[in-house]
Amino acid sequence: MRVVVAMMKHETNTFSPVATPLERFEPAWGGAAVAAYRGTGTAFGAFLDLAEREGAEIETPVAAEAWPSGPVPDGVYGALADAICAAVARGCDAVLLDLHGAMVTESLEDGEGELLARLRALAPDAVIGVALDFHGNLSEKIVGNADVVAGYKTYPHIDLHRTGEQVGGIVFAALKGAVKPVMVWGNRPMLPHVMRQATEDAPMRGLIAEAAAQERAGALAVSVFAGFPHADIHDAGLSVVAVTDGDAERARGCRDRLLDQAWQHRGGFVYRGEAAAAAIARARQLGDGPVLLLDHSDNCGSGGTQDDMTVLSEILAQGLEDVVAFAVHDPAAVASLVEAGVGARISLDLGGRTPMPALGLPGRPLAVSGTVRTITDGTFTIRGPMYTGVRVSMGRTVVLDTGGVEIVVIERHHEPWDTGCLTSLGIDPALKRFIMLKSRVHFRAGFQPLVRHIVECAGNGVTTSDYAKLTFTRVRRPIYPLDEA
Ligand SMILES: [Zn+2]
Repeated sequence: MRVVVAMMKHETNTFSPVATPLERFEPAWGGAAVAAYRGTGTAFGAFLDLAEREGAEIETPVAAEAWPSGPVPDGVYGALADAICAAVARGCDAVLLDLHGAMVTESLEDGEGELLARLRALAPDAVIGVALDFHGNLSEKIVGNADVVAGYKTYPHIDLHRTGEQVGGIVFAALKGAVKPVMVWGNRPMLPHVMRQATEDAPMRGLIAEAAAQERAGALAVSVFAGFPHADIHDAGLSVVAVTDGDAERARGCRDRLLDQAWQHRGGFVYRGEAAAAAIARARQLGDGPVLLLDHSDNCGSGGTQDDMTVLSEILAQGLEDVVAFAVHDPAAVASLVEAGVGARISLDLGGRTPMPALGLPGRPLAVSGTVRTITDGTFTIRGPMYTGVRVSMGRTVVLDTGGVEIVVIERHHEPWDTGCLTSLGIDPALKRFIMLKSRVHFRAGFQPLVRHIVECAGNGVTTSDYAKLTFTRVRRPIYPLDEA
C-alpha cells in the first residue's frame, strides 16, 4: 500500500496587506517533513502515525504552513501544489492531506479545491482524505474531489491530531473495504463573526454538540465549519460536511439539521465591539488581575499586520502600569533594539510600518521610550494544548520596558496562544496586572486559565469584526448579517 501524506496550509485574508512569499510557509520537503512533524499534535502527525501503523509505503512531498496573510502568489501555490501532484502521479492507494480550507491565490478563490481537482484527475481510484481547519470556506470543488473531509471541532483549535486520526481512520477502513464513505455538504448564507465563533460559547457550542452526537449515533464524521469571513470569496461562510457509511439520506439529514440550527441562531453570531479607549478605561476600574486586554482587530493569526498601535497607544495614554504587551511585529525596530543592547535606554518609532489600503489607513508608528530588558532568538517549543510539541520561532525578540509596559517586539508574526511566548522571555504572565494580547480566540488555549477578566478592545486592523469597515465585492449576496434578513 502506497500513501501520499502532505500539508499545505494557509488562511488567506483578502483584505491583508501582508505578503505571502514561499519562505513564509517554511516548507519542509520530502523526508524533512517527517522530521519536522512526526509526533506533533497536528493532523499531519496523526496521518504519519496511522500510515506507519498500517505498514504503508509513505511519501511526504511537502509539509508547509504559513501564518495567515494576503493572497498566495501563483508561483508559490504552484510550487507546493505541483510537489503534491507529482507524488500522487507516481501512483498511490490513498492521499492524506492536512489543508486549511480558506486558501486564496492571486488567480484562484479556492486553492484547496483546485489542488483536489488536480489530484482526482491524476488518481481517480485513490481514496482521498482531507483534514481542514474549522475556518475553512467549503466549496463543491473541495467536497466533490475528495472521499472524506472533516474539520476541527474546537476553536481554539486543540483537536488537530484527533481530526487527522478521524480522517485517516476512515480512509484506511475504506481501503480495507470495511466502510464505504458517502459525503454531502451544504452551506447557509451567513458570515459568523470570528469573535463569536468560539466553540465553548453559544451558539457554536450547541452546533458542535449536535455534530458530536450525530457521530456517536453512527455517522463517520460530521463537521461544522464556521468559515473565514475575511476571505472575500463567493463561498465564504458557515458550512457543514457529513460523512456516513454508505447512507446518503442519513448524511443529508445530519447536514440539514445542523444548517437549520445554525441559521436559526444566526443572530448569536453577530459581534459588536467596544472601542479601545472606552474598553481600557473600564479595564482600569477592575480591581484584581491579571486583566487581559484583547487587541482583536490586529490578530496576525487571521492576517493582521500585528503592528497597529491603536490599543497599545491607548494603554500608554491612560497610564496603565504593570502591563505586558504581546506583541508588535517590527523587524526594523528589533534591529535597532538589538544594536542598542540589553540595558540601553532608547527612544524610537515603533510599529505602524504597514499601510492597510483595504481600510484606507496609513501605517501610524508610535513614539516610545524605554529600556531594553531582554533579547532572545525567539524560539520555543509549544507545551500547551494547541500545536503541542511544535517548535516555533518569533524571530529575534526584544522586551522594551517603558516603565509601565513591557512591550515585546518580534521579527516574525506570532499569535500568542501558548504562554511560552512570554515565559521563554522570562516573563510570568500570571504575575502581571494587565496582559495585552493581539489575538481573537486562540489566546484562550493558554491564557484563559490565568486571567480574572477579559476586556475586548476594538482597535484598527484587517481582522476587524466590524464588517462596516470592509468592502465585500466577491461573496455571494444576500448574506447575513451584511444583508439583514
Ligand atoms: Zn482556524
